[in-house]
Amino acid sequence: MGFDFKTFGCNVFNDSIMREKLPKSTYRELKNSIDSGVPLKPEIADIVAEAMKDWALEKGATHFTHWFQPMTNYTAGKLDSFISPTSDGKVILEFSGKELIQGEPDASSFPNGGLRNTFEARGYTAWDCTSPAFIKDETLYIPTAFCSYTGEALDTKTPLLRSMEAISAQALRILRTFGNNTSKHVNATVGAEQEYFLIDRDLYEKRLDLKICGRTLFGAKPPKGQEMEDHYFGRIRIRVADYMHQLDQELWRLGVTAKTKHNEAAPAQHELAPIFNTVNIACDHNQLTMEMMRVIAKKNHLACLLHEKPFAGVNGSGKHNNWSLSTDDGINLLEPGKNPYQNIQFLTFLCAIITAVDNYADLLRLSAAIVGNDYRLGTSEAPPAIISIFLGEQLTSVLNSIAQGHQPDATPSSILQMGVETLPKLPKDDNDRNRTSPFAFTGNKFEFRMVGSSSSIAFANYVLNTIVADTLMHFAERLEHSSDFDGEINAIIHDTMKQHGRVIFNGNNYTEEWVEEAKKRGLPNLASTVDAAKAFLDPKNIDVLNRHHILSETECYSRYEVLLENYTKVITIEANTMLEMVHRQILPACFSYLGEVADSYSKLQQSGIYNESMYRLLEQLSKLVDHISDTTQKLSDIEQIPNELDSFQRASYCKDTILPQMNLLRCYVDQIEVLISKDKWPMPNYTDLLHRV
Ligand code: ADP
Ligand code: MG
Repeated sequence: MGFDFKTFGCNVFNDSIMREKLPKSTYRELKNSIDSGVPLKPEIADIVAEAMKDWALEKGATHFTHWFQPMTNYTAGKLDSFISPTSDGKVILEFSGKELIQGEPDASSFPNGGLRNTFEARGYTAWDCTSPAFIKDETLYIPTAFCSYTGEALDTKTPLLRSMEAISAQALRILRTFGNNTSKHVNATVGAEQEYFLIDRDLYEKRLDLKICGRTLFGAKPPKGQEMEDHYFGRIRIRVADYMHQLDQELWRLGVTAKTKHNEAAPAQHELAPIFNTVNIACDHNQLTMEMMRVIAKKNHLACLLHEKPFAGVNGSGKHNNWSLSTDDGINLLEPGKNPYQNIQFLTFLCAIITAVDNYADLLRLSAAIVGNDYRLGTSEAPPAIISIFLGEQLTSVLNSIAQGHQPDATPSSILQMGVETLPKLPKDDNDRNRTSPFAFTGNKFEFRMVGSSSSIAFANYVLNTIVADTLMHFAERLEHSSDFDGEINAIIHDTMKQHGRVIFNGNNYTEEWVEEAKKRGLPNLASTVDAAKAFLDPKNIDVLNRHHILSETECYSRYEVLLENYTKVITIEANTMLEMVHRQILPACFSYLGEVADSYSKLQQSGIYNESMYRLLEQLSKLVDHISDTTQKLSDIEQIPNELDSFQRASYCKDTILPQMNLLRCYVDQIEVLISKDKWPMPNYTDLLHRV
């Protein structure tokens, strides 16, 4: 095995390649664009494009593509070759600055929530030079943002890029009030831990539900699930280790800093974590990671499942979105720091986050809403749908003491040194871990654990960036106009704890008591994607997204439509898949087995033996078959959504009418599965899927 680390990033048009391939002045101009967002001059773009093309050709590329991220959670792009014909019947290879900077895909065939009709199909992709181009499958990939002819964002990257500017601007204002005049930019940094399942390809191919829906729609609980707790961090099977190794290598060549890999809690579940990066690169890299996970699985005769809940009864998969803020000169703003001055600054950012998360809990919840996540959140193994913050007892008590106007005393004196005024020296990593919190402080960053494993991380991060930027803006206004700086900081801490302390919860989020307690505290509990979607229409949320130029009201509305349409489509496809599986696989198997048992039973009876257990089995099977048949009939009857409903009503109909019927059908099928002989059951069972990798 091994890896030649000199080839790390060899397929990326990264800084060192740019420096090598571009004239010095071009390199400087491009670097300036990347760092401070000034648009690139057309003549410079031509030079960059030429250098990119030559490099790509050297690497064996024949095509280029504008790579973008529509609202599908996948990426997209069409491939164009570099060829251009000459009069003598040959070709030359060309790639202009214009082709680098702008592309023009048809926008009507992507989810757009009514923003685009087929007759006004034009859309644009614009080069995002802050994320490096790379080569994959003999194609030069150019990361781009995707918008409509009229300038509305049709992707997840545009609002993300906009939110990065917002958070930088507002965080810098705060830093200036603390006397920092040297940092020029603040970046949101993200490390997205990715969970996934790996199963055998042959078994996968035999399950229509996995192939069509990415999750099992049927499947009785296996004798052994994850109750032995022997998989988490356990020995990695040779076949899986091989897969992980190939995945690492592929990602490393693409410049993705894949760092940690391990087995997760459920059997057949694993995780990969990269080293963090600025958020838009982290987002691109996470998309590449998901894609490579699927592709390399297929090459290894495996299937990678990225669905949030592929199997009932064992853990689902999420994406732990580790988020922090860093200056361009390397200061992590969520690092408690060594001296009191850094502490107050840290506490100010901390208060901004607490305030933002409480004020916009519904929007943050929405940012993790995707139909698959509804099966995962709140099922006693993933955070509930209630947003709360874990700070740890110590940090909470420090904030509480300051808020109440006395010196923090609830912390051990050995690690608490009093500095200016009421400001303590905060220890790093004082807190224990709380794995049940949806939004946990983990020493120098927050970990947002609600994000679904199949989602793009862009949505969660542009919401986080925006709501924190907005709160920082309000704090900045207070601090910039205050004559008593320390007093104003104390007032900010006081107001934060008084008005938003309710969102802090250090206990076990998986309990019923917390659900009750959260209700008393007035925290929203938006259990499903359909409930969460409404947050897109809330004037307070539209205002904040608007104020920082992240999404216009129209764009919010279109995203609301896209989310609900997606929900409805997914549930409808799942219902149809169930019907097909029952009609063409499950009922035929049941009838055939029932017939066999009945035959044997009557043969025995003819020879004078009356077998009671056989009779009981016949009775049970026959009753269950009737239930399955009736429930299936009912499901087909209701599966057509009434035409007159609007998108919210359609999604609600799916949630409240179709889904319960699907659950009932599954319940009967899972009961009969364990009564029928294994060789008669028409698909691999949970034991096969989870334990036969
Ligand atoms: P933990 O101790 O919480 O497991 P790790 O250091 O293992 O923390 O990091 C978990 C994830 O958090 C990794 O993807 C890591 O790169 C990321 N991470 C660490 N520091 C930061 C940061 N400052 N900003 C964003 N992500 C970070
Ligand atoms: Mg994890």
